[in-house]
Amino acid sequence: MKKISIAIDGPAGAGKSTIAKVLAKRIGCIYIDTGAMYRAVGLYCIQNNIDYYDEKAVNSVISELQIDIYAQDNQQAIYLNGRDISREIRTDEVAAAASKVATYKEVRTALVRQQRQMQSEKSVVMDGRDIGTVVMPDATLKVFLTASVVERAKRRFEEYHNKGVNVTLEELTQEIIERDYQDSNREISPLKKADDAVEIDTTLLGIDEIVDKIMSFIIEH
Ligand code: C5P
Repeated sequence: MKKISIAIDGPAGAGKSTIAKVLAKRIGCIYIDTGAMYRAVGLYCIQNNIDYYDEKAVNSVISELQIDIYAQDNQQAIYLNGRDISREIRTDEVAAAASKVATYKEVRTALVRQQRQMQSEKSVVMDGRDIGTVVMPDATLKVFLTASVVERAKRRFEEYHNKGVNVTLEELTQEIIERDYQDSNREISPLKKADDAVEIDTTLLGIDEIVDKIMSFIIEH
């Protein structure tokens, strides 16, 4: 089979990882969650008392980080220096640290290099913020997912509620607005729709409808 690469970008809570996982399963390729890699860097800083607002301090530890992504039963497991951190990275604190370290050039250079290496080896569905614009500019198909802030906050709220995390809808709305701002206004690789990406507003659509739409675009290509 010809090697394919699908780029899925969009803001926090637009449904990227849910859609990317289902899509990867349908077309039988690997799912790579690049946000998890930025979260790994954020987690490392938090756990090692590195001030993630200090760019030089973060840059100086990049070479100490070995981030590995493994496909496990259609899920993705992420390891940091040999330790499974897949669950630990799913907190608001880590998301905020990830969003900060993702503004640093050296962090992005190191992670983008690794992402391109993974793409060169296998067919992938990769999600993030700069996949269509920077990581895989020649992807087979680029998708940009959006949804209203209210809908995205509601989705996060349900996700946290199911996990028993105590957080209000207002707090999540605020967090999403702040992260959108930081991700869209940073100097390097800001969150942006690639000119040749197809945009899908997921606010009123179900998972299967979105995946079907993407499948029809893949067939067209
Ligand atoms: O997708 P997720 O919410 O896990 O990403 C965490 C943070 O990592 C984002 O808010 C964004 O700042 C950063 N990120 C990025 N580029 C990517 C993926 C994530 O800058 N390709």
